[in-house]
Amino acid sequence: MNLEQLSKEQFIRDFKDTLHEEQLIKVARATPAELFTTLAKLIRRYYTDTWIDRNHKLSENKEKVAYYFSIEFLPGRMLETNLLNLGILDLVKESFEELNVDFQEVVEAEHDMALGNGGLGRLAAAFMDSLATTGYPGFGNGLRYQYGLFKQRIVDGYQVELPDSWFGSIGNVWETRKDHDIVDVKLFGDVYLQADQEGRIVPVYHNAQLLHAVPYDVPQIGFENGVINNLRLWDVEIPEAYELDYPTIEDRRRVQDITAVLYPDDSNYEGKQLRLIQEYFMTSAGLQTIVKSYLKQGLPLENIHEKVSVHINDTHPAVAPAEFMRILLDDYGLTWDAAWETTVQTMSYTNHTILSEALEKWDAELFKKVLPRVYQVILEIDHRFVSNLAKQGYDSGLIERTRIVKDNQIHMANLAIIGGHSVNGVAKLHTDLLKEDTLHDFYTLYPEKFNNKTNGIVQRRWTQIAAPELSQALDETIGKDWRKDIHQLDRLVEFANDDTVLDHFYQVKKVAKERLARYIRETTGIEVSTDAIFDVQVKRLHAYKRQLLNVLHILKLYLDLKENPDKDMVPRVFIFGAKAAPGYHFAKSVIKLINEIANVVNNDSSLQGKLKVVFLENYRVSLAELIIPAADVSEQISLASKEASGTSNMKFMMTGAITLATLDGANIEIKDEVGDDNIIIFGMDKDAVYSHYENHDYYARGIYESNPTIRRVVDSFVNGTIPNAQSEGTEIYESLITHNDEYFLLEDFSAYVAAQEKIDALYRDQKLWARMSLMNIAKSHKFTSDDTITEYAEDIWQLTKNE
Ligand SMILES: *Cc1c(COP(=O)(O)O)cnc(C)c1O
Repeated sequence: MNLEQLSKEQFIRDFKDTLHEEQLIKVARATPAELFTTLAKLIRRYYTDTWIDRNHKLSENKEKVAYYFSIEFLPGRMLETNLLNLGILDLVKESFEELNVDFQEVVEAEHDMALGNGGLGRLAAAFMDSLATTGYPGFGNGLRYQYGLFKQRIVDGYQVELPDSWFGSIGNVWETRKDHDIVDVKLFGDVYLQADQEGRIVPVYHNAQLLHAVPYDVPQIGFENGVINNLRLWDVEIPEAYELDYPTIEDRRRVQDITAVLYPDDSNYEGKQLRLIQEYFMTSAGLQTIVKSYLKQGLPLENIHEKVSVHINDTHPAVAPAEFMRILLDDYGLTWDAAWETTVQTMSYTNHTILSEALEKWDAELFKKVLPRVYQVILEIDHRFVSNLAKQGYDSGLIERTRIVKDNQIHMANLAIIGGHSVNGVAKLHTDLLKEDTLHDFYTLYPEKFNNKTNGIVQRRWTQIAAPELSQALDETIGKDWRKDIHQLDRLVEFANDDTVLDHFYQVKKVAKERLARYIRETTGIEVSTDAIFDVQVKRLHAYKRQLLNVLHILKLYLDLKENPDKDMVPRVFIFGAKAAPGYHFAKSVIKLINEIANVVNNDSSLQGKLKVVFLENYRVSLAELIIPAADVSEQISLASKEASGTSNMKFMMTGAITLATLDGANIEIKDEVGDDNIIIFGMDKDAVYSHYENHDYYARGIYESNPTIRRVVDSFVNGTIPNAQSEGTEIYESLITHNDEYFLLEDFSAYVAAQEKIDALYRDQKLWARMSLMNIAKSHKFTSDDTITEYAEDIWQLTKNE
């Protein structure tokens, strides 16, 4: 259906009809959830033909397609994005006004689709949007978890995790089940090889478990371009023929567990059999389908890399090269060499972290038990890799360090690198570190495989949807073209000295701050002033991200104010949002401490409202959309070298916050864009950090003992300053002093305090601050994921667009 022709009258008629058919009621009586479901169903009807057309055209034209394999996708809500991209968001908003319906309530009736933990999953979702928007044929492949990332509640200052039953009573209104694409996935059992009648060696399985992988497709709509791609999420079912194997509800539940929950571990290795099964299940199902649909085109299998790219997002789908080999060898009878050649050219891999605990390794015994045939294939890949390198004269140390199977473990990153043609990091510094350090051995073997693709964000969600007032101010300043071509934002630079424009943008930020202040009041009861600096750190709670450094500074301000209530400072509101992995004790203690510090600070009238601390529970995409446009300061203070890229740094920049940052990840590239005057950089750089590692000369206790300010702040964890958190305070104290402060907070503390003082001084000059803010918005276009994905499509996947 051509939506350009859609009129308000027509839409209202369609909407009323749909509501009547679906819910048997009239608009005035419908709940927001009913209105949401109805609206979603109606727009599904609007786009379905386009979606079907897209799939037809791609296979008719035999276009090359990239498949993005990711164990996480974190799109958040889809309604506004879908309406915006279909070009009817304003029309729908206006129609609802006519119908006397609060559109925002309808939006909020949609549950966040939270099939991801944080940055990695959000990136995968951004890439889906950008693939459709740029028009490249790129499909997602993941798992249809029944429960997404846990819902966080704060009780007595502690994090409590609740299941995120995101299907709720509504279900996922966007998905379509595709029964005709169901495939079988085999697990467990015994496998041996036997010659068949033609003398071909084939595997024979005994007692294997056979499951159905059932695909659910979620449309990915491009921005105003008529393109709809596909995100395929797999669910598990027991095939009818095998029902007798699962006589009890318990038996069935064990199978359903495969897609029951997203692992809530962020960048931590989770060593459970179930996790391995999850990873294999989605990888196998995806790859089998890809081969089947390729073969329908009647092309030779050994050339599959000419029409198909498979991207491995982090190591979770890194079994892909081995599984692809298994399919090509066992199911379709290709020779090893032909299969290997096309496999390597098909596969590519993104590394997301240098934290060694996140580079997945599987116990070989476990792997062999769950995936006996894939294990054999991996042994063969490993064997050939080793003997090849030995033949070429490489030294045994290098071979040992790079091989896949060693010390009774399977090294998944090694498999992804050896079995693919491309390895990329996610920001310049991160890629350099991979080459120099983490993956240096591989870099000497295959320098041509390495490349950088700095992360990006979907600018449409963070401006047009999350920041409507800012978007309108942009329209009024530089015209509306930026909505279609984000690089137009650069034209804002021309207005850097225009007082009226600067004031306009300053007021726009105020409006966003007022919206957040209202939410804070309603959800926490805390009153915050929008004249204060909104200083925000929202991201997963992790030691390397150093929320604790932020806490140390807050404690310093608190102690200063207690000593001198007249201290001259711009009022500050420190805002946190963060989930901690349920088993991550340290991270949970930091949350508890933040909440107890908030209790002390927010209830101390002697501070005269100069200091407020707010922890907003259940940080997620939809909450990010509320918080980020309201930030004055964006805290990006990870220890240099640890944050591969970061993406919230880009979202903050795009909505006019000033970045307070270490030289880590994409912060460096943000600095390069805005210039030194429009960002506050502090602390050790990567070389300083690495120098401590080399020389083993970091001594936290020494800093603590020689610096009275630091001592006073650190002591406040254990001297009763923060009541109700004795054990957490002790734990943190010990992590800093006894366990030598793994992330070098104490060394960076003084520079951080100085940087914060600089923020205070700059903020007093409203015009200067507004200009910095404007420059950040102007330069943020560099970080559009539309461009990032274009680089993936052109450099790694070699896709073309046939419009
Ligand atoms: C962008 C985003 C992240 C990533 O934040 P970083 O600060 O880059 O780690 C995590 N969670 C949500 C909900 C996000 O929107």
